[in-house]
Amino acid sequence: MDLGIAGRKAIVGGASAGLGKGCAMALAREGVEVTIVARTAANIEAAAEEIRAATGSRVTAVAADITTDEGRAAVLRACSKPDIVVNNSGGPPSGNFRDWDRETWVKALNGNMLSAIFMIKDTVDGMIARKFGRIVNITSSAVKAPIPILGLSNGARSGLTGFVAGVAREVAKHNVTINNLLPGDFDTERHQSNTRAMAKLQNRTYEEVRASRIAQVAAGRFGTPIEFGQYCAYLCSAQASFITAQNLLIDGGKYPGTF
Ligand code: NAP
Repeated sequence: MDLGIAGRKAIVGGASAGLGKGCAMALAREGVEVTIVARTAANIEAAAEEIRAATGSRVTAVAADITTDEGRAAVLRACSKPDIVVNNSGGPPSGNFRDWDRETWVKALNGNMLSAIFMIKDTVDGMIARKFGRIVNITSSAVKAPIPILGLSNGARSGLTGFVAGVAREVAKHNVTINNLLPGDFDTERHQSNTRAMAKLQNRTYEEVRASRIAQVAAGRFGTPIEFGQYCAYLCSAQASFITAQNLLIDGGKYPGTF
């Protein structure tokens, strides 16, 4: 299926590894010109080279912290009129809410709520003017089913979810869609470090905890970043123009509810 977005321009945050890189790869395979962002210069350059080699698409690497004003400004200098924005960065640390002070909360709110809101603010009016826009925020299954040790994520991402529910409806008539993609368990560095934290907390081995997490997924495995990226690319397609303001879970059937 041709997604109808060849030649479009995309910004993808947190894209040297994991889910962001999966999204960038899937978009580039559709002929989208991607500007990819991560803080570590060598890693984002390497990811850009890998995506270029695999897809032949134009890829621009930006080494920046997308959760800062300067970082977002650098990204927008590299791609000033994006048609597609995938908001993504690292998740906050795990832990016990009794240990988190105001500064810890402000950092989590900035990283997983405000930085996406500011990126939407900086790009959505151009999309409206050009009559095409696709914004996908990578949030978490934790928005639907909170994960106890990830209280910072549960809280900050729910704030973003509430904001998006409003603004998505404001811009929909201009062929600009805004959706949240909620990953369940994907085998990435972030997921592995969460498993290590759980193992320490539960006094079990990493392998035991990993096996018990896999056992909770109906599909019997973790997802891959490219599976995630392909879903994201579809949400960014011309065909997905009537899908907006949604929270779309992608978790291999782990969430046990009917809806
Ligand atoms: P990952 O494997 O750790 O990759 C994170 C990527 O983001 C890296 O490229 C990292 O590179 C970059 N990054 C981190 N902080 C950044 C920042 N401030 N500015 C720019 N780039 C930044 O993580 P992942 O598993 O793909 O997760 C992506 C997001 O999905 C996270 O917010 C995570 O909490 C959420 N999530 C993941 C899962 C899962 O199963 N994997 C489940 C639920 C939610 P640098 O460190 O070099 O910047």
